[in-house]
Amino acid sequence: METYTDQYIGGGWRPSLGEGTITVLNPATEEALAAVAAGDAADVESAVAAARAAQRAWGASSKETRLAHLTAIRDGLAAHQEEIAATVTAELGAPIGFSTAVHAALPLAVASGYVELLAGFEFTERVGNSTVYREPAGVVGAITPWNYPLHQIVAKVVPALAAGCTVVLKPAEDTPLVARLFARIVHEAGLPAGVFNLVTGIGSVAGAALAAHPDVELVSFTGSTAVGRAIGEQAGRGIKRVALELGGKSANVVLPGADLARAVNVNVGNVFANSGQTCSAWTRLLVHQDQYEEAVAIAAKAAAKYVPGDPTRPETRLGPVVNAKQRDRVRGYIRAGLDAGARLVAGGVDAPEGAERGFFVRPTVLADVTPDMTVAQEEIFGPVLCVLAYRDEDHAVELANGTDYGLAGGVWAADEATAVAFARRMDTGQVDINGGRFNPLAPFGGYKGSGVGRELGRHGLEEFLRTKSLQF
Ligand code: NAD
Repeated sequence: METYTDQYIGGGWRPSLGEGTITVLNPATEEALAAVAAGDAADVESAVAAARAAQRAWGASSKETRLAHLTAIRDGLAAHQEEIAATVTAELGAPIGFSTAVHAALPLAVASGYVELLAGFEFTERVGNSTVYREPAGVVGAITPWNYPLHQIVAKVVPALAAGCTVVLKPAEDTPLVARLFARIVHEAGLPAGVFNLVTGIGSVAGAALAAHPDVELVSFTGSTAVGRAIGEQAGRGIKRVALELGGKSANVVLPGADLARAVNVNVGNVFANSGQTCSAWTRLLVHQDQYEEAVAIAAKAAAKYVPGDPTRPETRLGPVVNAKQRDRVRGYIRAGLDAGARLVAGGVDAPEGAERGFFVRPTVLADVTPDMTVAQEEIFGPVLCVLAYRDEDHAVELANGTDYGLAGGVWAADEATAVAFARRMDTGQVDINGGRFNPLAPFGGYKGSGVGRELGRHGLEEFLRTKSLQF
């Protein structure tokens, strides 16, 4: 087992100033994979100082210079696809097929999109007698979770660099290895020292120090609501910009006349992908009461195809959840749902058959879920689908909007116009119409408790800019 006691600061790997290490477990085997440095406030201090020192020159560099570096990062991501997929499968437990198609390929697509976007982006515009300049926001503190560990890093770091910001990244404790691999890729891309820095460490220590640092001008955070709220409060006191992506409880609404079987089958795939650890997952399936039993039967049948197994095998569709705490938490939610009167039609609280080791949860479908139940309101973050019945379209809107969250959603209808009209009534940042594919150039982010700010595409780049106008 490798033990890494260094941090990537100021253009090189430096001994961590923090004491101790964080052991990284393979969630499928519960074996230790590696240990990384538990960075502390002193590491954050030196990383922020490096980022601050590099900020002016990087912010003033030409678009062509930044484009050349981003292209090199993109090429590095392309060259390391297999290693990225294997690393995410090892530390997150995602099936290798999914790691290859999503955990490795999506960050590459996002980086490629930013190379193209930056090439055509205008940082100045004329407005009447003014010239409006878009300038870098400054030093960015990026704090990322474990569920899409590289995608969430790339979705913050790449647009921040494109905007001319310098970055200190604090990745999640459970998935620091792909973050270290990303630092290697950035290093190989030859960025000036201090433009990108990585500090691994515990959230309440290294993450908190980064969010609180007075020289960090913008904090971009993805993770739990509790931590996001605390970071937002603190940012408010420091008059600091903040972008928060805080998860969801998204509804997939099947309107009468839609292709029910397809809508339900796609929903089951959506919610079990990545073991249900997707903030935008459709965790609530809303079906008209007349089609309810038919939909539940389709969902139960589809769920049976997801057999938990070894994520390194290409045929495995469902791996473990990330750690023991998440496993217990997800099982606790299944138990709470059943106690509240939900009907178990697939899966359950017990460990899957044959899974003596690993943080596995049975792929679960709960029917007869009502909006007052905890499982209908809180983010479970595991392979659990809740099926709710609605009476009519207004009731479906009420149910879809009836949580604190508003990140994503789906609508299925016989025709697009009907689906779009319904989607426009949903208080949520993204809606897929009749199974529309994820678009890495479209703005991604929440309404209500799902957060503030947008990631990806042009909107994601603009998060990292501030605006100055000169009058003539
Ligand atoms: P978390 O919010 O604790 O962790 C996310 C990141 O924030 C990690 O890098 C962590 O180290 C850091 N962090 C933790 N405490 C911090 C602090 N006080 N100051 C600054 N940074 C801090 O999330 P978690 O414990 O890993 O997961 C808990 C729940 O959060 C999950 O069950 C899920 O519901 C939700 N979640 C949502 C997303 C999402 O994509 N929106 C991702 C992961 C988790």
